Amino acid sequence: SNATDVVMQRMVTVPDFPSEGILFRDLTPVFAHGASFRSVVDGLIEPFVGKFDAVAGLEARGFLLAAAAAIDGGVGVLPIRKGGKLPGDIIGETYDLEYGSATLEVNPASLPAGSRVLVLDDVLATGGTIGASVSLIERAGWEVAGIAVVLELEALAGRERLSGRDIHALVTL
Ligand code: 5GP
Repeated sequence: SNATDVVMQRMVTVPDFPSEGILFRDLTPVFAHGASFRSVVDGLIEPFVGKFDAVAGLEARGFLLAAAAAIDGGVGVLPIRKGGKLPGDIIGETYDLEYGSATLEVNPASLPAGSRVLVLDDVLATGGTIGASVSLIERAGWEVAGIAVVLELEALAGRERLSGRDIHALVTL
């Protein structure tokens, strides 16, 4: 598809970032180009049109995609935030990173019970981030409508960790 093509053309691979031995895929140039960004956002939601009531973006790069996708899809946007950023009666989910751990949070009062939420992020790597987000969405009383990412890093087996979920990736490496 055009979305796949523009990602392949504009994505930049950066060796040893953010640390030695990591091959970082930088999608900033894809998002910075207007026609490409539009194509990516359209491509992410395309398989799920009519099947979601809100879009959730994972902090921070997922926010860019989710806000645009929400406008595109005619629904609202929900930020799934890193620990300590949201006020009120929030729920949190802590998950393991390569070194240490991270927490994601959401406010269950943000959407009506039973809302169908489409989860968006830039990259699916080990699936830890999206896995924690899926748990939060279900604990909040909502349904996961699907998961869409720009790039899936197949060797890190995130898809296996998220088995049974409807995952759409524009590019798989
Ligand atoms: P996971 O939790 O699936 O291991 O990692 C996914 C998270 O780490 C995503 O939020 C994503 O933004 C970030 N991430 C991991 N590897 C990369 C990468 O190569 N490029 C970019 N842009 N983000 C990455």
